[in-house]
Amino acid sequence: MYPNILRHPGPTPIPKRVQLAMSQDMISHRTDEFVQLFRETTNRVKPIFGTKQDILLLPSGGTAALEAAAVNTVSPGEEVVVITVGAFGNYFVSICEKYGFNVHKLEKPWGEACTEEELSEFLKPLSNIKAVFVTYNETSTGILNPIDKLAEVVRTETDALFIVDGVSCIGGAPAEMDAWGIDILVTGSQKAMMLPPGLALLSISDRAWKVIEGIQKPAYYLDLLSYRDWAAKGMTPNTPAISLIMGLSAVCDLIEEEGGISQTVARHELMKNMVREAMKALSIGLLTSDEFASPTITAVLAPKGLEAGTFIKHLKDKYHIDFAGGLGHLQGKIFRFGHMGYCFPSDILEAISLIEAGLQDFSCPFEPGAGILAAQKVFLAAQHK
Ligand SMILES: *Cc1c(COP(=O)(O)O)cnc(C)c1O
Repeated sequence: MYPNILRHPGPTPIPKRVQLAMSQDMISHRTDEFVQLFRETTNRVKPIFGTKQDILLLPSGGTAALEAAAVNTVSPGEEVVVITVGAFGNYFVSICEKYGFNVHKLEKPWGEACTEEELSEFLKPLSNIKAVFVTYNETSTGILNPIDKLAEVVRTETDALFIVDGVSCIGGAPAEMDAWGIDILVTGSQKAMMLPPGLALLSISDRAWKVIEGIQKPAYYLDLLSYRDWAAKGMTPNTPAISLIMGLSAVCDLIEEEGGISQTVARHELMKNMVREAMKALSIGLLTSDEFASPTITAVLAPKGLEAGTFIKHLKDKYHIDFAGGLGHLQGKIFRFGHMGYCFPSDILEAISLIEAGLQDFSCPFEPGAGILAAQKVFLAAQHK
């Protein structure tokens, strides 16, 4: 009977208008109707990526697009750097190792970001690096890497391509792909893009296309050149996720109605600050520093004396609010509070109120109402700007 209040860092809630858009009658992907939908929609996604390049659509999860980015740009035996600050960075390492690249892993402890100084130091002794791979927003820890600064290091100190996994933040975090010098930027539908899983979006720089044209690749379905050829005709090489593209068009409507992507990004920043100030007021720990905190997901330490899984299960069973647990060694130690996509300050106030209810149930020492008050203060200050 009660609705599930989904506060995971993906999948995330789907707006009613997007649901309705996705329930339109099916159309063929070899029609003028589809060509118009594809062209209009992908053009409207460009500001979300901060690019003038075409947006390519794969009927897949984000991982397939990350794999495509790897296999289309680097050959077995070539040198690459993978920056990893958590579970998703490690997946990028695995993809690169699977294809036989010579991986130089720049690894940071979970909960920390990679800074430009660290990347610069790491690159110094290396040569002939073909690509640097990085996760923009590390979903396992709630870290937002300083991607603009990392891009600058790669651009000025190497000839490598800079390939970015933006899966859990594009749509909720700033992205200036062209201005920053990102060569491939990837995202997925089910995180900040307000869609169900099953659609991956990516964009590719001219420099990366040159590399892609020049290499022999063991890929058929993920051969990006065929996506480019078909996109020129307003289509995709195989059957696309047509309903999800109809939904994506409605997502673009919503973002444009909010005032454009910069306003959507500002809302995520506000929600991040509300969550963090509330947790501080409740004396609940945060995994990351404010400086590198993600605008889309906050990793919250389990309340003292409690196992995170017990707290998550209690909140779900009793209050129907659904947070995600920790991954890897953070399992049981943190819960992950997703605040991305179709999520608003009012949802944050609701979630904090229910967290406080849970703290009362477990007789945790805290001042009732302190979290809500702190979040409201942040919220009201933003209204009066
Ligand atoms: C969710 C996620 C992925 C994987 O996307 P799938 O759609 O599950 O394949 C990759 N990277 C990051 C940062 C993610 O958050």
